[in-house]
Order: sequence, then structure tokens, then C-alpha cells
Amino acid sequence: MSNKALELDGVFAGYGENPVLKGISFSLEEGRRLAVLGPNGSGKTTLLRVLDGLLDWRGKLKILGKDASGMKREELAKSVAMMSQFSGASLPYTVEETVLMGRYVHMPRGIFAGPGEKDRRAARECIRAAGLSGWENRRVTELSGGQLQRVFLARTLAQEPSVILLDEPTSHLDLKYQTELMDYLKNWGQQPGHTVVGVLHDINLALRLADTFLFIKEGKILAFGGKEILTPHLLDETYGMDVAAYMREAADRMEEIINGKHLSKPL
Ligand code: ADP
Repeated sequence: MSNKALELDGVFAGYGENPVLKGISFSLEEGRRLAVLGPNGSGKTTLLRVLDGLLDWRGKLKILGKDASGMKREELAKSVAMMSQFSGASLPYTVEETVLMGRYVHMPRGIFAGPGEKDRRAARECIRAAGLSGWENRRVTELSGGQLQRVFLARTLAQEPSVILLDEPTSHLDLKYQTELMDYLKNWGQQPGHTVVGVLHDINLALRLADTFLFIKEGKILAFGGKEILTPHLLDETYGMDVAAYMREAADRMEEIINGKHLSKPL
């Protein structure tokens, strides 16, 4: 029997008087890669914040089989890591220092005692895994968007989580980095005991990464399940437009380029 990574039953969350998540219920087994999809403002990031312990919630939530209501943030951080793009990039830390930030949760004597040899070894291993060997002493403020994203990946891996949360990790990345990151995370998510939950805008990337899909609209679940739930009707309902027609047009345009037909057409 496979273990559950996440179990939500009637989860509500919001900001002050603004209720955002209105009774979210689903469960996800370990080893799954979940894409969270929905229009802007539907509550996708809010859901990630709940799972990362950053936001209060009501209802039932279990993470790796444990009731999350009594969990301290530090305890949660040993299981769940958010691959965040917003912190740690504006100060001139080196790549190694930034990746070591992911180790704090494992430092028994606290961050002020500094990292031990085990932490440094783990950080170096994650830097290697993210393809950044040789860049340890570069300042993160001098890196390109793609390189920076690798640093964030290495920092997330250094936390040694079971569940990685991603919030639109590919915005600002070019196509090559987008696909490389998705493929890396897909592979990571397929390892025993690992689970990935990613908020993604691009359906193509979602299909590349995920085997499970959660559609949210106005704080409620529209659909949850494997690839079999994906229908043109669901995509139209989610985004309020004919998504299939849009994708078909894009595919046709690419086909013209592949066959050189665009050269004989006026712009
Ligand atoms: P999504 O990720 O689907 O675009 P969010 O979860 O970020 O949506 O936001 C859902 C709703 O919550 C939006 O109406 C947004 O304005 C509101 N919201 C998000 N963050 C905050 C916040 N820190 N304080 C108050 N309202 C917020």
C-alpha cells in the first residue's frame, strides 16, 4: 500500500476577511507529481502557503501521515520545502552560502553556530546535482535568471525535503531552462518517498512534469485526478476561453515553421 504525502479534508484559508480556499479536499500519494492549475487569484499560491505552514487554515490536513495542526514550522520544514524565487537573491551571498541556507533546518545548534562539515558536504552535493559545480564562490547577485533558479533548486534540495512545492518556478526562464528544470523535478519526484506539488501556468509544462492535476477556481476544486480528467471542456471552464483552439493554433503555427511554409505567407 502506498503512503499518502498529503491529505486535505475541508481545508479553508484566507487573509483576514477574505476567504480564499473554500473547503479543499484531496489526497496525494507519495511519488506523485501534482500540477495545480487555475486562473489568477483562484487560490493556488494560498494552497502552497498552507502546505508550507506559512498561513493559518481550518479543516483537516495531514502531511506524510501526520496531523499538521500541531506541527511546528521547523518540523514541517524537514518534510516540505518551497522552492522560492523571491528570497536570498538580492543580497551578495555566494552560491555556497545561499545553498547552505537550506541546511539551517538540519543544524542542531541553530543557525548562529554555523554549518558543520556534514552541512557543507550536503550543500556541495546539491550544488553538483543542480549543475553548478565550480560556481560555489560566485555572488548570486551576478547570476542570470537561469543560473539563479539552479541555486534555488540546490538550496531546496539541501533542505532534504520529502515534498517540494513550486510556485510558478519557470517564470523568467527561457525554454531550455524551463524544460531542464521540469525534467529534473520529474526525475526527483519519481524517487521513492518524494512528491512534487507545482503551481504552473503553462499546460505544456504541467503535462511534462505532472501525473496528477488539481484544477482550482474561486477557491474550490473543479477537478482532481490523473491525465484522464483533462478535457477541452475542463480547460474552457477553468480559464474561460477555448484553450484547445488556442493550443491547436499554436501547434499549426509551429508546424508551418517546421515545414518552412511560413516563408511563403505574408506576416
Ligand atoms: P493564485 O495563486 O491562484 O493567483 P493567490 O492564492 O495568490 O491566487 O490569491 C488568491 C486571492 O487571495 C486573491 O484574491 C489575492 O488577491 C488574495 N491574496 C493573496 N495574497 C494575499 C495577502 N497577502 N493578503 C491579502 N490577500 C491576498
